[in-house]
Amino acid sequence: MSKLDSPKNPFELSDIRKNISQLDSDLLGLLFKRRKLSQQVAENKKNTDKRLRDQTREKQLLESLLTKASEKGLDSHYITSIYNLIIEDSVKLQKDFLQVINNPSSNESTNKINNIESSSTVAILGGIGSYSYVAAKRFFSNSLADPKLNFSTIDCDSFEAIIENVEQENASFGVIPIENTTSGGITAVYDLLLSSKLSIIGEQKQPIKHCLVSIDGSDIESITQISAHPEAALQCSNTLRKKTVAEINQVESTTHAIQKVLSSQTKKMGAIASEEAAQTFGLNIVLKDIADQSENTTRFLVLSKKMVEVSHAVKSKVSIVLSTNQQPGALADILTLFKNADIPLTKLESRPIPNKPWQQLFYVDFEANIADKHVLQCVESLSKNCVFYRLLGCYPAQDTDITQVSTKSLAKAKLTRLAKTVNDNSEIKTQPAKQSKLKENNKDNKTQSNYHLASRSYKKENTQIVVNNHIIGGDQFTTIAGPCAVESVEQIESCAKHAHESGVSILRGGCFKPRTSPYSFQGLGYEGLELLVQAGERHKIPVITEVLNPLDVKRIAKHADILQIGTRNMQNFALLTAVGQINCPVMLKRGLMSTLEELLQAAEYILKQGNQQVFLCERGIRTFENATRNTLDLSAIPVLKEMTHLPIFVDPSHAVGRRELVLPMAKAAKAAGADGIMVEFHPDPKTALSDGRQSLDFDGMTKLMSELYLN
Ligand code: PEP
Ligand code: MN
Repeated sequence: MSKLDSPKNPFELSDIRKNISQLDSDLLGLLFKRRKLSQQVAENKKNTDKRLRDQTREKQLLESLLTKASEKGLDSHYITSIYNLIIEDSVKLQKDFLQVINNPSSNESTNKINNIESSSTVAILGGIGSYSYVAAKRFFSNSLADPKLNFSTIDCDSFEAIIENVEQENASFGVIPIENTTSGGITAVYDLLLSSKLSIIGEQKQPIKHCLVSIDGSDIESITQISAHPEAALQCSNTLRKKTVAEINQVESTTHAIQKVLSSQTKKMGAIASEEAAQTFGLNIVLKDIADQSENTTRFLVLSKKMVEVSHAVKSKVSIVLSTNQQPGALADILTLFKNADIPLTKLESRPIPNKPWQQLFYVDFEANIADKHVLQCVESLSKNCVFYRLLGCYPAQDTDITQVSTKSLAKAKLTRLAKTVNDNSEIKTQPAKQSKLKENNKDNKTQSNYHLASRSYKKENTQIVVNNHIIGGDQFTTIAGPCAVESVEQIESCAKHAHESGVSILRGGCFKPRTSPYSFQGLGYEGLELLVQAGERHKIPVITEVLNPLDVKRIAKHADILQIGTRNMQNFALLTAVGQINCPVMLKRGLMSTLEELLQAAEYILKQGNQQVFLCERGIRTFENATRNTLDLSAIPVLKEMTHLPIFVDPSHAVGRRELVLPMAKAAKAAGADGIMVEFHPDPKTALSDGRQSLDFDGMTKLMSELYLN
């Protein structure tokens, strides 16, 4: 009897759905209660000098939730994503609450405190559907969680009109874009800030996801004209150049661009706009995510006639504009004042002074509260040293820092969940890979002239390298793992999944393989890179891959998160120079027969070009001993730690060449002070196209992670 004609199913679909709906509504109720509690926290902190945000407490909360979640078999990435959003909402809610308490004189604020229906009129560029509209809505709608807050806009067609409307009190606030992560500072707005009398009272960072839209979403070929705001056109210029020959017409705002499409009613007309705008106006999306950089965020400023005061419990920012005299070092003197007062700068932008050729105005943002005594003192001495100075505002910083849990607790949660899944299924089902179609002696003084930037004497602090959300060289031990080579979609997909589930931080996979014999498998090249990157994205894990040719460096770096220089290329100076010129972390492996000093000189080639994100990897050297593939030089770890500030990794797999020796050597590397390891694993090592003998299987990989992180 098939499932379909089995007797009446005890769980009717409609009943199950009813239960789900009930549960979702309970979740909403709980979220509401949680918000009320976080408002009480803000009330509780308002008269103390306690900081609103307590990331230690957030970390503890996340770690304990992860432990509970893993016992229930819930994925750690899923849980951290949800809680990061909840925490972000809670921080914004508390910040808005304190802002209102701190500024009781403004009408809106009083009304909000008394919970009287109030309204904010906001001058923005364009209208409904524009990015400014979305940013303004996000900034104002959450204020004090007041659902009755009326939000209306005055839709302007220029930046000047926004300023005018606020100055003439037609609008209480103006929302104006100031910088974008792809196209940089919006110079016209900087110039307007100087000439207007408005103050900055807030900021809103809005992720921008550009789409190409038209009345008929199917066909890019038929579009001959694209209307776009100049900034949007700039941010998508490379993608559009590749995909279409259509003419780009610049218009005042994204809303105008949409109007052009709507009024033309022809398939020939396209516009660059957000997904929300397309939905609002019933347009179709021809191409999604067309910005040249995937991370594309605009920072908007919120302007008002009146300055605000910011609670000390809230992370705040100050924006000023200044110009110095033309003496050498004048700007350096100003910046030193910030350094001495321990005030972090977040932005420095320069603009030419009208009618004064080659003289500059400097716009400076820094993290501080202007009401703090030491900040006031710093600003006072600064203004004495300037020929021009103006305070543009002190306002709550949009706190987008995401609280990270430690690698150890993440790995623990992932391993617990994995163990639970194994018990539940009584065995781990791993997909067999389908065969691919393609078959002290630290002589710092002595070495000073040989390497300088890489030396400890040049930099005392350990270098830390940020890869997405992970820090290499911090206080956490990092595990990079994956197959020697990417072989097929199934193979790399199952490896990425297992890496993610067992707490590995970075996925490896060779695509261009440096093989001793030209007849051995050489890797899948760019086809393999695409599979690796897609698998990494699916399982939210950054990827590392080896580059062999200087001509491939830029293209690979566009997709991979870290580049690897292999042992055979440690002294390929053209390659070292090429990776030195890009902004992408590099793992440099020690040459088969190189001394540590030679390794550091190779690193120096990269650093000297500008790229400071270099870490080193000891992977075994050639000796007379042939019981192992190479001889792992464990003493290289403490010796390198003396000689250099760069993070040190160990690759036990290539060092020993036999999987049964990988675990003890990995543990030894950790014990000797390495910052991390790189190991090879494969779903079915026997069938691996390269280095199967040294590759762990999935169980071996899980065991290695448990022994490294749980014991
Ligand atoms: C590798 O890690 O893929 C590799 C080829 O290692 P090595 O350069 O150390 O031989
Ligand atoms: Mn290998």
